[in-house]
Amino acid sequence: LSPVPSDIDIASAQTPKLIKVLAEELGLTPSEYDLYGKYKAKVDLSVLERLKKRKNGKYIVVTGITPTPLGEGKSTTTIGIAQALGAHLRKPTFACVRQPSQGPTFGIKGGAAGGGYAQVIPMDEFNLHLTGDIHAVVAANNLLAAAIDARMFHEKTQSDKALFNRLCPSKNGIRSFAPVMLKRLQKLGINKTSPDDLTSEEIRNFVRLDIDPDTITWQRVIDTSDRFLRKITIGQNPTEKDQTRVTGFDIAVASECMAVLALSTSLADMRERLGRMVVASSFDRGEGIKSITADDLGVGGALTVLMKDAIKPNLMQTLEGTPVFVHAGPFANIAHGNSSILADKIALRLVGTEEEDEDKSGYVVTEAGFGADIGMEKFFNIKCRTSDLVPDAVVLVATVRALKMHGGGPEVVAGSPLPEVYVKENLEMLEKGCENLAKHIQNAKMFGLPVIVAVNHFTTDSMAETELIRKKAIEAGADDALPSSHWEFGGKGALELAKAIVKVTSSSTKDNKQEFKFLYDLDKSIEKKIEIIAREMYGAAGIQLSDKAQEKIQSYTNQGFAKLPICMAKTHLSLSHDPKLKAVPKDFVVPVRDIRASVGAGFLYPLLGEMQTMPGLPTRPCFYDVDLDTETGRVYGLF
Ligand code: ADP
Repeated sequence: LSPVPSDIDIASAQTPKLIKVLAEELGLTPSEYDLYGKYKAKVDLSVLERLKKRKNGKYIVVTGITPTPLGEGKSTTTIGIAQALGAHLRKPTFACVRQPSQGPTFGIKGGAAGGGYAQVIPMDEFNLHLTGDIHAVVAANNLLAAAIDARMFHEKTQSDKALFNRLCPSKNGIRSFAPVMLKRLQKLGINKTSPDDLTSEEIRNFVRLDIDPDTITWQRVIDTSDRFLRKITIGQNPTEKDQTRVTGFDIAVASECMAVLALSTSLADMRERLGRMVVASSFDRGEGIKSITADDLGVGGALTVLMKDAIKPNLMQTLEGTPVFVHAGPFANIAHGNSSILADKIALRLVGTEEEDEDKSGYVVTEAGFGADIGMEKFFNIKCRTSDLVPDAVVLVATVRALKMHGGGPEVVAGSPLPEVYVKENLEMLEKGCENLAKHIQNAKMFGLPVIVAVNHFTTDSMAETELIRKKAIEAGADDALPSSHWEFGGKGALELAKAIVKVTSSSTKDNKQEFKFLYDLDKSIEKKIEIIAREMYGAAGIQLSDKAQEKIQSYTNQGFAKLPICMAKTHLSLSHDPKLKAVPKDFVVPVRDIRASVGAGFLYPLLGEMQTMPGLPTRPCFYDVDLDTETGRVYGLF
């Protein structure tokens, strides 16, 4: 329709097919999926084993240039390409996207189901609740938070003996260790299986975690943008006398449990990762500080139980009936901002082939959050390194409006009307801004993969503007560059782009000189790895570590975490650490304020500048527009 109706109107006008039908089309057996209502299903991980003889399909990652605060259409393009490949070119295709947080859905940005005629449906179910995975993450995260404070409380108020008697109670005259306690004993080097055999010194070491409250990094989470929870004081009831503590809440998707969900490669792997999450350090009582893990607190198993269904990818569909996995949604700054490894793996098998001819296989189009300097870099160096999956091509999304902003255009503010230059032809400003596109193309090329630029077409873009971007992209080394109007026309609008993807990844035309490689070696020092990312990806002159960051490097190296990959926590609004610096900033030094560890997820995250892990609501949040037709039950106002 023209003009294109609102996202929710388009989404609600389409009747989705029953998800059972889609599951059957994919060849899933009834025991391999659980229905969650009519239009969502969870897919069992056993599919991987059943299809282990299949070769994976082709793996395409969608990323973007440095965006305006409005977003330049990575999700929309991911869905548009999947619709074009699946519904029009009739190739087996999956789109894999993140589950959005309720924070932005009701706050500033809105949902993340794509937009226009390239969306995941039912859009309201996609954006809210889905199958409860975020709720499971919240439950797990907060159980661990409660376990920390409760343990400190009990250790403070009880003797070693009393603690021991409660931790290992006698049942019918026999005491035993809970299985998770054996992990702690092993860590302490105590090789005994019966509590009765422990010496009093071993009992002391076993029962006292001796958590230093000032070192606790684990916060509580909630999936609402609630700025007043950023800093709170807990323990104010008289029953917790003298144990008040200042802490805070993060948005649910910033929980390490979410990053673990996204990076786990099996249920057993998730169990290990949840158990080794580090939440604090102990006091130094002369033997040095020790890191305290979820398993030390005895809660690793319970966390896994809370998340055992969340680990199964959620099957949904696009507006054109092609399959989508919506799974995990880790924060894109303090975490790696990519959907789950397991969703990608299952999708790659489902579209794969047992035939020798690899061109018979289908496509998995997966999205990496934020701009390519962050989302794509983490996709390769963290996600692909963990999964061992080798991607086949990069699609880099660019828009006329973002490039004009990089060419000197006025500030773009979410919720305010776009300044006129963004909707009128201005080739000069656009050409200047193409610098940013060129840098991202070169960045993607560093990983040795073909790069296709997708110019996400807005109805106000002129032909000459699109052509200019195409020319500049090819000059900068892109393998192809095409406009795509999936927002306006659905899969049909992305056909040329989809054909370019097929061509660039087909065995006959593939450039064999291109071969996937990581940006850095894990064996390099923490400092060196940070420096490589800053210099190569951001174009920085160097890095400057604060005293705190230097101390952390020392401490993490001593604790054996130096070989972890790096997950930079940086603004997505600039290639640099400063959101005001547009285009391709030069001669800047990246300040590393602090470095933190997500040991369970498996990365270290340097903080460049202030990072907000709990968004606030603006004066006019998106929720003003959201309501329900009480006659029909139809939701409106979501976008
Ligand atoms: P990203 O994934 O890069 O953050 P999204 O795909 O979520 O961006 O798109 C951001 C917003 O812009 C969405 O509301 C979407 O509907 C809208 N949008 C995307 N592409 C277009 C387009 N070509 N024309 C108009 N609006 C668009």
